[in-house]
Amino acid sequence: GFEDKPPFNLTADHLLDGLLTAEFGYRSCRSRYEFAGYHKKSSHQPSPYLLAKLRKQEALQKGCGPGTAAYKKALRRLKSNAADVEDDEDCRYLVNISFRFRGLGNRVLAVASAFLYAVLTERVLLVNGGKDDVADLFCEPFPGATWLLPRAGRRSPLRKLDDYHGGPPPYVYLHLAGEYGFHDKLFYCGEHQRLLRGVPWLLMRADGYFVPGCSSRRRSSESSRPCSRRKTPRSTTWVGTFSTPATPSWRAVTSYYSANLAGAGRLVGIQIRVFQEKQPPQQILDQLLSCVRDEKLLPETTTKYNGTSSSYGVLVTSLSSWYYERLKGEYGGRLTGGVHQPSHEGRQRLRNEAHDVKALSEMYLLSIMCDVLVTSGFSTFGYVAQGLGGLQPWVMSRPSPWEEWTEGQAAPQPPCRRALSVEPCFHSPSSYDCTVRRDVELDKVTSYIWRCVDVSWGIKLV
Ligand code: GDP
Repeated sequence: GFEDKPPFNLTADHLLDGLLTAEFGYRSCRSRYEFAGYHKKSSHQPSPYLLAKLRKQEALQKGCGPGTAAYKKALRRLKSNAADVEDDEDCRYLVNISFRFRGLGNRVLAVASAFLYAVLTERVLLVNGGKDDVADLFCEPFPGATWLLPRAGRRSPLRKLDDYHGGPPPYVYLHLAGEYGFHDKLFYCGEHQRLLRGVPWLLMRADGYFVPGCSSRRRSSESSRPCSRRKTPRSTTWVGTFSTPATPSWRAVTSYYSANLAGAGRLVGIQIRVFQEKQPPQQILDQLLSCVRDEKLLPETTTKYNGTSSSYGVLVTSLSSWYYERLKGEYGGRLTGGVHQPSHEGRQRLRNEAHDVKALSEMYLLSIMCDVLVTSGFSTFGYVAQGLGGLQPWVMSRPSPWEEWTEGQAAPQPPCRRALSVEPCFHSPSSYDCTVRRDVELDKVTSYIWRCVDVSWGIKLV
């Protein structure tokens, strides 16, 4: 109908250079087509390989997704324990099982990795989410199909997804989270990927961006890996396909932007995440101010700065308002764009939809609205912002969240370092070398996988 038409003609820009199809109705998701109007145009063009893969995925979701005869058949197969896919025509599935007790950043990165893995291995992607999950925060990414796993019937083997801790085919449960074990890490080996190909249902629980793990050089030969270097696009070229926020978050983003940020010529985003409760806030603030000064991210006087007049603005996100107050005191009078903080939730809340809507909208404000980003090391919240925005952030070093904070401990040095790329850091890579069949030092970087500046044992694509 009339309302389903966008109020303008769709151009290549609106469709993010082909990442999106024009097949969606406009009303189904406003952010999908308004996104380009806010986002600085990415210099990364999606490759023809990626575009072909995405179109294939859309067809797969339509032909095999919930509601289709193929889906019913696959469910029946699951019930009757028939192990292998019978022929190439059969549909295969990847179910992303959410960790309800992880933060939004973790969950978004897990969905992002699952999305890419599904596209590269030609599996239908289904996300299981209850009322308060990723599924409600994002628009449907595939036209004419749903990515939501339907409520399972009483006798369905998919009924108790939360109880899965392993099991025989016809499904394989993949646990790619936390300090996961030897067998789980075999996921990154080519020969195991070949075995997985024949399994109709993969049930995956991940808590971060595992893509660098499955493109790592040491694993096995290039051809057998689904996320080999050649096949793995950088996140900036594809996250736009699935990461379109549902209307409540998008409204929060656009209204906050026009009320507070639109006047700033250059917006500096600062994301402060504190993992060590005992670390003195003043120390964190000093670290931030040193970073900003050392890297000359903001003008120190009201006069001309870097040749431009100071129409700078600052966007702060943090659970606390303390840093914002101090920054406002320090810079507020100097910056015509002002210092702003959309919310201060006090503490992280789980299974709280309004809280998640705020968190997601702040990730978007940091990413697509900001020109420069300062993030907190170790934080997946920051990774989502940098990945969505295609921004290479200044990362403030953080003591590891797993270490005890000791009284009088010095602030990390240097205060911040530039991330090597916009890609999220993968915190739990496997050190198992699939070819020599033993653990190896992962110290050698390749031309496309590097150590992260914030997590010494983490790896990322560059
Ligand atoms: P991480 O713990 O830093 O890796 O990030 P996560 O996103 O996984 O978990 C932290 C959670 O705390 C977020 O999802 C939010 O719910 C909340 N949170 C942390 N920092 C902020 C912030 O700056 N703004 C808002 N609105 N929420 C935050």
